[in-house]
Amino acid sequence: SDSKWEIDVSELSFDRELGSGQFGVVRLGKYRGKKDVALKIMKEGTMEEDHFIEEAEFMTKLHHPNLVELYGVVTKQRPICIVTEYMEGGCLLEYIRKNHYLQTHPDTLLDMCYQVCGAMKYLESINTIHRDLAARNCLVGKNLTIKVADFGLSRYVLDDEYTSSLGSKFPIKWAAPEVLNYTKFSSKSDVWAFGVLMWELFTGGKTPYRAFSNTEVVERVAQGHRLERPQNCPHAVYSLMLNTWDMEPEKRPSFESLHTTFNDLIDTVN
Ligand code: ADP
Repeated sequence: SDSKWEIDVSELSFDRELGSGQFGVVRLGKYRGKKDVALKIMKEGTMEEDHFIEEAEFMTKLHHPNLVELYGVVTKQRPICIVTEYMEGGCLLEYIRKNHYLQTHPDTLLDMCYQVCGAMKYLESINTIHRDLAARNCLVGKNLTIKVADFGLSRYVLDDEYTSSLGSKFPIKWAAPEVLNYTKFSSKSDVWAFGVLMWELFTGGKTPYRAFSNTEVVERVAQGHRLERPQNCPHAVYSLMLNTWDMEPEKRPSFESLHTTFNDLIDTVN
């Protein structure tokens, strides 16, 4: 059965490596000799491939100006390859670490948060959970456009160290308490992760709770400790972060309401 999203490998050319990550190597490429694309070449054995292929079909139907477009997949041969929009600025976390001047531009950082929030509001509206929202999973395009990538992929990873909240690669520092305690993912657990992403941006890409081990973080968060206000972070923005880190998921704001708040804030910070 031929999926509408199957891309024939003969229509792709593979160029230089852009980076590598959890699932394999990412290369710059061209589609039909014209369109720049990013080619994520999946390491064999890292993904539950059949389910992933089904899900890819769903993911190609998602469209938002702040979501990385998934153009299609190569599954007729191994390794599986995911063809997405090319984002010339690369990973947001690295970008923010390299561009220190951004720390004196809270208006720009706020706009970045607003863009990510827009994509998340869209996912929330169609009941889709990201599960691994963090600055490392966002990409930078032209004119400081920020796009969210890798939505839903984490569900198909076969590595227990990554998928189990007890695993060494599980992103504990971005995880809401109910995710750690009962593996309860929701848009509200995405909201918690979004607050940590905001903190990453306003600290210039610091690692959250750097001095603490994963176990210590879980304990401290449960006791009510929270990440501190980054130096150049406006108080109104920090108070939003604190709202995203409410112990009770239902008390956290929705992405929809955060989006409205950002809109109001952007006028006052400028
Ligand atoms: P993984 O999800 O396997 O951990 P990533 O998606 O983080 O891998 O990709 C690894 C690196 O490749 C990123 O840090 C980034 O620098 C680069 N990269 C990934 N996707 C793109 C893209 N669409 N455009 C440009 N660079 C990309």
